[in-house]
Amino acid sequence: MVLLTRKVEFSAAHSYRVPSWDEDKNREVFGLCSNPNGHGHDYLLEVTVKGHLNEKSGIVVNITDVDRVVKGIVLEELDGRFLNREHPFFIEHIPTTENIVAYIWNELKDRFEDCKLHKIILHENPFLLSQKGEGSMIQLTRKYHFSAAHRLHSDQLSDEENKEIFGKCNNPNGHGHNYILEVTVEGEVDPVTGMIINLAELDEIVDQTIIQKFDHKHLNLDTEEFNGLNPTAEVMSIVFWDLLQSRLPNLHKVGLWETAKNYFEYCGPTKE
Ligand SMILES: [Zn+2]
Ligand SMILES: [Zn+2]
Repeated sequence: MVLLTRKVEFSAAHSYRVPSWDEDKNREVFGLCSNPNGHGHDYLLEVTVKGHLNEKSGIVVNITDVDRVVKGIVLEELDGRFLNREHPFFIEHIPTTENIVAYIWNELKDRFEDCKLHKIILHENPFLLSQKGEGSMIQLTRKYHFSAAHRLHSDQLSDEENKEIFGKCNNPNGHGHNYILEVTVEGEVDPVTGMIINLAELDEIVDQTIIQKFDHKHLNLDTEEFNGLNPTAEVMSIVFWDLLQSRLPNLHKVGLWETAKNYFEYCGPTKE
């Protein structure tokens, strides 16, 4: 099987409101997104299909055929619209990132010839995306930024070995990074709110559990979590998973960009 991904962009407006709730309740649950006049995003959709290679043509499926199907939904139905007001599905279902993914998945899943829908990822902005894959539930990923110093050094290795393995990163006084943390939750979309998890709640949990503890800190010197632990990005991913998991039962994955070139992820001890 070969996978093939096509990207398409669209712009749409939306507003998060439950009509039967009063203004205060809508404001409380949806925050700024409850503005009845709406706000908008430039969405980026990635559609991945999979199929067998056609030996004669050397392709799995003609990309223009994939494009026609995807654009038939995305550009003709969603692009340039106020979703809650103009689209029959989103008049009934709040156009959250999760619900837009659910809608696009259902519309695309039986439409392709010669290939099968494998995964879709919808980026609402650079810090929020939702996705669905074959056989998996809908996921929501939020990205957070923090800066910290660390020194890569293992107590179980000699000074010479540490220097040899970690090189510059073993500098006794440490060095630092702009970390990007990705937190992915997975689950059923709430039929009323259209959300897997309330974003404000997720932000608060991550802020309390990770950002306040580690932002602008020296991980080895200032934090008890890394006291005696070598704060490699691998170890950090596992520590962050453990911290978040107790407050986010539907946590699916912790991703950590140490630099723009180094990315690590951990899905917990049972999902290896
Ligand atoms: Zn929005
Ligand atoms: Zn480093």
